[in-house]
Amino acid sequence: MEGQKRNAIIEVEGLTKKFGEITAVDDISFSVKRGEIFAFLGPNGAGKTTAISMLTTLIKPTSGKLLINGYDPVSEQDAARRSFGIVFQDPSLDHELTGHENMDIHGILYNMPKKVRKERIETLLNLVELQKRKDDQVKKYSGGMKRRLEIARGLMHLPQILFLDEPTLGLDPQTRNLLWDHIRELNRKENVTVFLTTHIMEEAERVADRVAVIDYGKIIDQGSPRELVERTGTSSLEEAFLDLTGRTIREEKAETMTQMMSSHMRRR
Ligand code: ATP
Repeated sequence: MEGQKRNAIIEVEGLTKKFGEITAVDDISFSVKRGEIFAFLGPNGAGKTTAISMLTTLIKPTSGKLLINGYDPVSEQDAARRSFGIVFQDPSLDHELTGHENMDIHGILYNMPKKVRKERIETLLNLVELQKRKDDQVKKYSGGMKRRLEIARGLMHLPQILFLDEPTLGLDPQTRNLLWDHIRELNRKENVTVFLTTHIMEEAERVADRVAVIDYGKIIDQGSPRELVERTGTSSLEEAFLDLTGRTIREEKAETMTQMMSSHMRRR
């Protein structure tokens, strides 16, 4: 795989992660094109966090090939890391500092010169509409403002990819809408590739160019939301998702019912 020469910015082939007996990610393959918004969809425990952790160099794969912006996250960890920004589910802002200071520290960590940092902070805070509140301490921000600041901070060092793990978790519908507008605008203006995970199918349908559905560590389908809807003969991505993952949920339920019945029989 010669990632840098290719159109694809993320290339994954046969990626697997085992934790002892558990295979959390089981031989998955996919690629993400430059400038694309790509969503990973899956029920709880499907393997999304494990997959995103391998893509972002946090854990090492058991086997398989992986290239981030043409770099191997295991043998070229620093170059791979410079290629992306990440926004985790758990907020990681310093609440005692101002929005501007939080951004600035991130720039210092990436060795950005002062003048460049100043310009970049202004551009990004304007894009996420926080310029007027930049000198307020983060503890005075609303939940939505904090999320916008985290996303802006993730883009501070001009990464080519932005990883977003459940970016709208805990936000109200209005704030979620606004956040997606910002993400789409950043994607367009900065040509940044966005890799996200979400449980909210409606959001994925609206924002993602392509999605991959993962369950029990395996990718069970991938394509544009429209392709998945057509293939499953459903009328929305949510229905397509349930169609693709619902069977396994029913199996689990059936098993639980069988277990309940057999323990009931044993008691009699
Ligand atoms: P959620 O949506 O609930 O965050 P997920 O799709 O991100 O779920 P993962 O957290 O990747 O799923 O977990 C996939 C599987 O791997 C689960 O069975 C989980 O228990 C297991 N797993 C994850 N991390 C570890 C670990 N460090 N050690 C052992 N098992 C793990």
